[in-house]
This record gives sequence, C-alpha cells and structure tokens, in this order.
Amino acid sequence: MLKKIVIFLALMCSVTCSGHGPSVFLSNEYKKIYKTSKCDSDKPFPQMVLIPFFENASQVVPNCRTYPKHQAALAFFIFYHKWTEYFGDRNYAVKGMLEKVMIQWDTNKKISKRGYNLKGEPFKNHNIIGRVETDSMTWVWQGYDHKISQSALFHELVHLSLRAKYGSGDPDHEGLKYRGWTQAHTAMIIEAKQMLRAFGL
Ligand SMILES: [Zn+2]
Repeated sequence: MLKKIVIFLALMCSVTCSGHGPSVFLSNEYKKIYKTSKCDSDKPFPQMVLIPFFENASQVVPNCRTYPKHQAALAFFIFYHKWTEYFGDRNYAVKGMLEKVMIQWDTNKKISKRGYNLKGEPFKNHNIIGRVETDSMTWVWQGYDHKISQSALFHELVHLSLRAKYGSGDPDHEGLKYRGWTQAHTAMIIEAKQMLRAFGL
C-alpha cells in the first residue's frame, strides 16, 4: 500500500512539479536583453522595445508613454490568461504568436478603404483604430484617454490568435462570411479589458 502511495506521489510530482507544468504558461524569465531594451526619450522616434517575458515580442512606440514595456507585458499576460480560460491553447499556437508579435502603436487613427464592423457588415473609407498587417505584426491606435483598455489591442490580438490557430484572422468578426470569430471572442475581449482596467491600464 505504502509503495503504491509513493509511486502515486512520484507520478503526481512528475506532472505538476516540473517547474514548467501546465500552471505556468510562460517562462517568466527576466532575460538580460529585457533590461537593455528600453525606451529613450532623448532618441528619435519611433523606437522598438522588446516586451519583457515574451521572448521576441516587441512594440514600436511613438513616445515613451505609449506604452511602458511592463504595461504591454501585463496586457499580454491578461490576454493570454483570458484566452486560455475561454478557448485553451493546446498546441500553444497563441502563446507562440504572443512570443513573436510586434505591436506598432500610433498616436493617430487611420482611414481604411474597406473592412467589416463587429457584426460583419462591410464598410468603406472608415476611421479605424487597429489593423493586423501580417501573421506577427499589428498596428494599433493608442486608444481613448491613453489607456490600453481603451485601445483595440485585444481585438487585434484575437485576429492574430485566430490566424495562428486556423490560418485566417476572420476579418468579418461575428459575420458569417469568414469563420473563426464567435460571440465568445467578443465576450472574452470585454472581460479581458475589465481586467486591464482593474490594473489601471
Ligand atoms: Zn477586427
């Protein structure tokens, strides 16, 4: 009996005590490069800064306030926490995306020739606040009141996550022309933004 308990405990430990078990979703390692990669207000803009804890993720910033790198990192943690809570990430496609994505922050909005609103209705020549550019790059306007929670960052990260998982970012959102984005994705963004606000972001 005792032997069985010991074997059971050993097995449990090999599952949960490895240090990189399922409860730890990122390496959490504060690499040296993160210390040296920082915004310098005396140098010309835009500047590229690595997002700490997320491997090669980076942001291109128009000034040092938009946004401090640890704020961006915290936003990423919150996004991934909510994403896995809703959808899981069994093959780590979303984690992989977050570890190589580049966020291009902008102080100005852009005009898009065409696109879709959240319900899937097409528009032309509309102000936009974010746009996915490639598999690993997205442009994002800084948001109302200079808050990450008031920007389209999470919206664009959902497009990128869908792209990483299914190969298409689903440009018409909840519309039926393209598949991927569901009401659950919209709900997840709302909850994740609430969490951002709780942290003052
Ligand atoms: Zn969109």
